[in-house]
Amino acid sequence: MVAAVEAAAEQVVAQLREDCATPAARLDGVAAAMEEEMRAGLREEGGSKIKMIVSYVDNLPNGSEEGLFYALDLGGTNFRVLRVQLAGKDKRVVKRDSREVSIPPHLMSGSAAELFGFIASAVAKYVADEGVNRALNGKQRELGFTFSFPVRQTSITSGTLIKWTKAFAVDDAVGEDVVAELQMAMEKEGVDMRVAALINDTVGTLAAGSYNDEDAVIGVILGTGSNAAYVEKASDIPKLEGELPKSGKMVINTEWGNFSSSCLPITEYDQALDEESLNPGEQIFEKLISGLYLGEIVRRVLLKIATQCSIFGDVSRTKLTTHFNLRTPDISAMHHDETPDLRIVAEKLAGHLKIANTTLETRKMVVEICDIVTRRSARLAAAGIVGIMRKIGRATPGNNSRTVIAIDGGLFEHYAKFRQCLESTLAELLGEEASKSVSVKLTKDGSGLGAALIAAAHSQYAK
Ligand code: ADP
Ligand code: MG
Repeated sequence: MVAAVEAAAEQVVAQLREDCATPAARLDGVAAAMEEEMRAGLREEGGSKIKMIVSYVDNLPNGSEEGLFYALDLGGTNFRVLRVQLAGKDKRVVKRDSREVSIPPHLMSGSAAELFGFIASAVAKYVADEGVNRALNGKQRELGFTFSFPVRQTSITSGTLIKWTKAFAVDDAVGEDVVAELQMAMEKEGVDMRVAALINDTVGTLAAGSYNDEDAVIGVILGTGSNAAYVEKASDIPKLEGELPKSGKMVINTEWGNFSSSCLPITEYDQALDEESLNPGEQIFEKLISGLYLGEIVRRVLLKIATQCSIFGDVSRTKLTTHFNLRTPDISAMHHDETPDLRIVAEKLAGHLKIANTTLETRKMVVEICDIVTRRSARLAAAGIVGIMRKIGRATPGNNSRTVIAIDGGLFEHYAKFRQCLESTLAELLGEEASKSVSVKLTKDGSGLGAALIAAAHSQYAK
């Protein structure tokens, strides 16, 4: 770095670089620890920090799904209501329509009745706006509910909320059956709609991925939060009770966001972020990886620099102390800035953080911080995927089955440098040869299409 950046700032960045380092040997340890935790979580309920939730989805869609289905996607800051027309075998024409509604922040930490009431009223409006022409043929409307928080499922249509993650904290919903809550709220709103399936967004992404390509066996979310699901052999799930499914398979929602291990490169910024979060001590992997947090980590590094030297001017004149003031789309924009004078970096710093008059060297340093934080995130996500691949024998030498990994989420979709780093790290960890049979596919809208597909498979009218 150029001498114009003060030595104190340089030192903070050097320390960050060191603390965030993810050489292949360390990632190998992360993958091994992930695999071990997966086994422990499959053995018995509570066997691991990662819950390895049985999804009750034992068959992935095959294209024969047919009819009109609805889906609800709740998991981030917005939720969506969707309608999908599935055209059946060999006619994979799928008509879709959706509406996005943002959740008022106060409902994210209010009561369950308020939150589900708000959701049900949005569904009611959506259905009312359809008019009367929907071809229901006297059938009840059916819905796939994508609920992307850890849920203990007891069947495809019921599950109790284990805990909230991300920005949600509706305390009285914890321990309740979220399907019953939704069903009740919809009845109150006068909506005649049956919840045919409760799924997680990872499971939906995997379902949509396999609809498009039958070699999809892993679904990953890299958005506000992070999580993964995969197809497991039913006989490899000791904690699975009752008869084994006929397919011999079961989709497992890993809830890998809660993974933690001494292998993980954790910095002082991560520790402070965790301590001050809504869920301290939890979702440690997610806090290193996902979109809700990357911008916030960068903000914390910048604040540290600002307290050590004067390159950002007087801290009290900036907005550097405001939590979550820098968002991941902002660091993505700065990271991809190709203007010769890093104009976009200057704009972002001036706009969100009220840092004016930075030198080019300072702006370059900010880009490097974004790079360090994002690279660590993408490399850890790749290591997690390799852990799953090892668990299902897809990363062993000589294995030549094709493996498709379906990935959805705004972080993966929009942050090109993140995506490139994830893909190149996968190749690095799997080896040149093995990585030829692996492909990563952006699978948009798994939580909409996927939910509709699974609802179709579990429809009360299914043949
Ligand atoms: P959710 O995970 O809430 O269901 P998305 O999959 O759309 O929603 O992901 C949204 C998240 O993706 C945002 O919270 C943000 O962190 C990240 N994101 C969105 N746009 C970008 C972008 N341009 N660059 C980087 N990250 C982005
Ligand atoms: Mg989502």
